[in-house]
Parts: sequence; structure tokens; C-alpha cells
Amino acid sequence: YAKMNGTNLVIEYNSKIHDIFAKKLRLENDLQTALEKNEFSLFYQPKINFRSNSISLEALLRWKHPQLGMVSPAEFIPIAEETNLIVDIGKWVLEQACNDVKKLEQMGFPNIKMAVNLSAKQFNEGDLEKVVSEIFGKMGTNTCCFELEITETTIMKDPTEAIEILQKLKQKNITIAIDDFGVSYSSLNYLNRFPIDAVKIDRSFIRDLSENSKGTEIVEMMILLAHKLNLRVTAEGVETEEQVRYLLEKGCDEMQGYYFSKPIPFDELPSTLLKMRKMLNRYNENKKRLT
Ligand code: C2E
Ligand code: MG
Ligand code: MG
Ligand code: MG
Repeated sequence: YAKMNGTNLVIEYNSKIHDIFAKKLRLENDLQTALEKNEFSLFYQPKINFRSNSISLEALLRWKHPQLGMVSPAEFIPIAEETNLIVDIGKWVLEQACNDVKKLEQMGFPNIKMAVNLSAKQFNEGDLEKVVSEIFGKMGTNTCCFELEITETTIMKDPTEAIEILQKLKQKNITIAIDDFGVSYSSLNYLNRFPIDAVKIDRSFIRDLSENSKGTEIVEMMILLAHKLNLRVTAEGVETEEQVRYLLEKGCDEMQGYYFSKPIPFDELPSTLLKMRKMLNRYNENKKRLT
């Protein structure tokens, strides 16, 4: 009897594994045609900079699968990497982001800074800065409007080469942010050697802030360290007023998260940008009154 139960467990376990692989295979297959079938779109999430008193955006890729609905980038980006599809998808993301920056300009939001995520494959493709300047040239957008977000792990695969690539991008006036900062502390001893402009403290650290835990000291230290190195600090995944207060008190420059706005489709940008602007103005008014 017990043995039979065991067998059932094994069968159940195997069928779960089977489901996971089947889904992965399906995504892998359908991803091949997703670009030509126009299934991708970009959502945008505002970043609020309390220091420079400005609002910028991060482009976040969305895939609307005809049967499965919205598939999370956390799920399909790794597959796009493995299959090299990320190179073409990445180009599409940059073009689309350029287009939308231009559209925003025409709608009365000039010089909105736009951050685009880059995956490891794109970063190490060899001709990244050529690809990037070709797209900007073709689209007629100003490179200084753009920031590239690169994760620590990507950069740490080959730090020496990364430094070279980053320098070339910087010559084009593109700024660089380290995404998910703090997740792999391996980059700490390289931080001052990378020609970067900003770090984005990973959401996991911000989440810990609300629990009154040791997490607060870690975040404080990250902000101090980044400022010592003349880097802008962005906190990602800010969800509560308590977190905002703490981060402001510790001098965090920029914040992003559901507290301010979720990632939204292009159509909702004008009203959201105005709302963010009003909020920043209110903050500045209060600051003036207090000092
Ligand atoms: P990321 O660049 O670190 O983006 C932050 C993720 O956290 C986004 O998930 C965003 O929707 C989510 N988020 C933002 N604020 C909050 C919050 O307050 N609370 C919570 N719980 N979550 C929040 P998303 O859009 O699912 O993207 C996941 C990851 O996929 C991104 O992480 C990025 O690494 C990658 N990704 C997204 N778009 C692209 C792209 O165009 N190219 C590449 N290579 N990777 C991308
Ligand atoms: Mg990012
Ligand atoms: Mg991030
Ligand atoms: Mg993150």
C-alpha cells in the first residue's frame, strides 16, 4: 500500500516536471514568432528623482501570448536569452522606447529620460555600442535621453571587458545604472572601477525596510557607499509611505515602485506624469516650508 502511494507520488512529481518542460518548450517555440506577430509591448514605470526634481521612465517588456495571456518577463527573458532571440527583441525594445520618447516630446513632455534593461547576451554581443548608436541614429533620438540598466551578474561575467563596453557607451552620453544592486555582493570590489552613474537597490532590500529589521542598516550603508562613489541611488520596489520616509531621511536620490505607480501602458503616461509632477511640487513646497 505504502509502496503504491510512493509510486503515485513519483508519477505526480514526474507529471509536474513534464508540465514545466512542456510549457517551456511551448514558450520557446512561440517566442520565435512573437516579434513578427506584434505580441510585444512596452509598459513604463516612473522613477521619481527627489534630488534633481525630475521624473524619468523605465521601459518594461510585456508579452501577450494569444492563448496564455500575459507572460512575465521573468519567465520569457531567460528563454529569449538561451535562444539568442533577445538580440532582436532587445533592438525592438530600444526602437519602441525611442519612438515613445519622441511621441512624448510631441505631447509636451520634452527630454524625458528613458531607462532600458539590457540582458547579458545583449551586453556581451560585441557590438553593443554600434547597435545602440545605429538605432538612435535611425530613430533620430538624442542619446543623452537614455540610460541602460545592467545587472551586477551581467557586468561581473567579465569585469575587464565590461569596463571597456561601458566606457564606449559613456562616450555616447548614455548613462548606466546597475540593476538589482546588492544581490550579488561580488561586485563590491569593482564598483569604483566601473564607469557607471547609478545603482538601483534591489527590491528585496527595500522590502525588508518595513519589517523594522537589520535591513535598514544595510540600505543606509548602500546609500552612503554609493554617494561616496558619486553615484545616484535609486530604490526599486517602493510600496509604502514608511519606506518613502525612511529613504528620504537617508538621502536616497530616486525612488520607483507601486507606491508611486505601477508599470503602465503608453496611453496612461500623460496623466501619470502630470500626477507625479504635482506630487514632486508638493514635496518641494513642504520642504521649503520646513527649512
Ligand atoms: P527589473 O529591471 O529589476 O524591473 C523591476 C521589476 O519589478 C519589474 O517587473 C516591475 O514591474 C517590478 N516592480 C516595480 N515596482 C514594484 C513594486 O513596488 N513592487 C513589486 N512587487 N514589484 C515591482 P517586470 O516588469 O515583471 O520585469 C522583471 C524583470 O524582467 C526586470 O527586472 C528586468 O530584469 C527584466 N526585463 C523587463 N523588461 C526587459 C527588457 O526589455 N529587456 C531585458 N533584457 N530585460 C527586461
Ligand atoms: Mg530594471
Ligand atoms: Mg531592478
Ligand atoms: Mg530587481
